[in-house]
Amino acid sequence: MNKEELKKIKEKSLEEHIPILMDETLAVMDKILKEKKSEKILEIGTAVGYSAICFSEYLCENGRIDTIEREEERVKQALENIKKAEVEEKIHILQGDAVEILPTLKEKYDVVFIDAAKGKYPFFLEQALRLLKEDGIIFADNILYKGYVMGEYHKHKQRTAVRNLREYIKEVTDNPGLNTQILEVGDGLAISRKIS
Ligand code: SAH
Ligand code: MG
Repeated sequence: MNKEELKKIKEKSLEEHIPILMDETLAVMDKILKEKKSEKILEIGTAVGYSAICFSEYLCENGRIDTIEREEERVKQALENIKKAEVEEKIHILQGDAVEILPTLKEKYDVVFIDAAKGKYPFFLEQALRLLKEDGIIFADNILYKGYVMGEYHKHKQRTAVRNLREYIKEVTDNPGLNTQILEVGDGLAISRKIS
């Protein structure tokens, strides 16, 4: 991977206010992903490819990332960035709405990273569980949504997101097949490991 290019992609994304993976969140995932050495990673929410490029470092040889993005302009930028970072052979973008694409997927993944529409997290979880290998891990970013999820007050606009993020937390916590941690790192990160 071309680290110089990755740095540029990160800086440009921050300038353009694209909500990319935060450094402290990546630092937590780094330890887990280094140990895991994944063959296949599924990402929901590519944006401009920043996190996918970061994750490509943790794949085992011939490993692959499938990443889903619905905004055409972002897909275009992501393709450019992935090329600049020299990881084209490791990252495959699926363009479209994850709500439609996920049910069509059949292969199993070592890791699923959920980082798209907050109102859809419970649905993404259901699909992630279906697509996860026996010893797989699901990460969900922005799970505490600027503190709204733990707080009392939230504006109408955020209400659906908050309700669905709370439902996600309840489901992963109650699921006896999962071992879950909710971390206050970045915008909140849920880590759920499948218990085999
Ligand atoms: N993972 C990226 C950031 C993703 S931001 C990184 O850290 O670099 C969230 C992205 O999810 C946005 O680009 C948005 O267009 C996309 N998105 C939101 N809902 C989606 C859906 N239902 N299907 C596909 N993409 C979606
Ligand atoms: Mg995020």
